[in-house]
Amino acid sequence: MDRDAFIVKPGSKISLKKDYDTAFTGSYDQKGDAKIKLLHDIERLAKYQDILYAKNTHALLIIFQAMDAAGKDSTIKHVMSGINPQGCQVFSFKQPSSEELNHGYLWRSFKALPERGRIGIFNRSYYEDVLVTRVHPELIEKQQLPVSLKGNHIWKQRFEEINNFEKYLVNNGIVVLKFFLNVSKKEQKNRFMKRIETPEKNWKFSASDIRERNFWDDYMNAYEDAFRHTSTEWAPWHIIPADHKWFTRMAVADIVCSKLKELKLEYPTVTEEHMQRILQAKEILQAEDRQLSVSSEQ
Ligand code: ATP
Ligand code: MG
Repeated sequence: MDRDAFIVKPGSKISLKKDYDTAFTGSYDQKGDAKIKLLHDIERLAKYQDILYAKNTHALLIIFQAMDAAGKDSTIKHVMSGINPQGCQVFSFKQPSSEELNHGYLWRSFKALPERGRIGIFNRSYYEDVLVTRVHPELIEKQQLPVSLKGNHIWKQRFEEINNFEKYLVNNGIVVLKFFLNVSKKEQKNRFMKRIETPEKNWKFSASDIRERNFWDDYMNAYEDAFRHTSTEWAPWHIIPADHKWFTRMAVADIVCSKLKELKLEYPTVTEEHMQRILQAKEILQAEDRQLSVSSEQ
């Protein structure tokens, strides 16, 4: 898979509509290669995650952003299905609480960062503060900023802050992977219809989904601008075709695996002293066996 094709080149102005095919599947098909590759990558991921945990020098932060029904939840569910739950955490960012609004917009993300050795997933993220808040300027009012700090300059300023924040993370061993699941407006409608028509999926449908759909073009503009300014060498954006869920899952798993592979992590090697202790422990355990067999002979 040509992973680079999904990356937004730092500083480049993109058009989601013209430059990115939401239905792209490359040479893959659902039943054959893609499924096999996904299962294989899920296994690889479990192995990498085990080493990440043992080594305890790095963490991996995976950010998912998307329009509603693009498949964030199911991608997280599938891609992470083989991972030891102890080494993984998922945070879903909703509308900020009043406590969160009493802090700067990055505060709640700081608290949710994965510690070394772990994979942390942000289901939505601080990017909402340059997306939904940009599409709905009244949300900025709720953020209780001083009047002099509001205004149109705020978006460029936030892009810069986000880039610096991510640079800080990367400089501290927290690798940042960012995915935008790129679903078409038509496919979103199909998925909403399914949620409406399938009783087991009704709970997933929310009236606000339809409301936000009306702002589709505004969201696309906000996303395009965010990608242009926050796709960096140290934390690039990946735009993943999302009209076919099976392709989305496979592509995300592939990119996560390749990122972990790039880190070239290995299980920690034990010191001479630690090795001696291991050998002593082995002797003690073996002596227990000998004692047991002597007492059972008596
Ligand atoms: P799904 O609908 O698939 O269950 P979701 O991520 O859309 O998942 P919801 O509870 O439907 O979850 O929506 C969360 C909402 O919170 C989104 O509309 C999002 O834009 C909003 N939100 C998240 N962060 C912020 C923020 N910082 N400011 C304002 N709104 C935010
Ligand atoms: Mg939603």
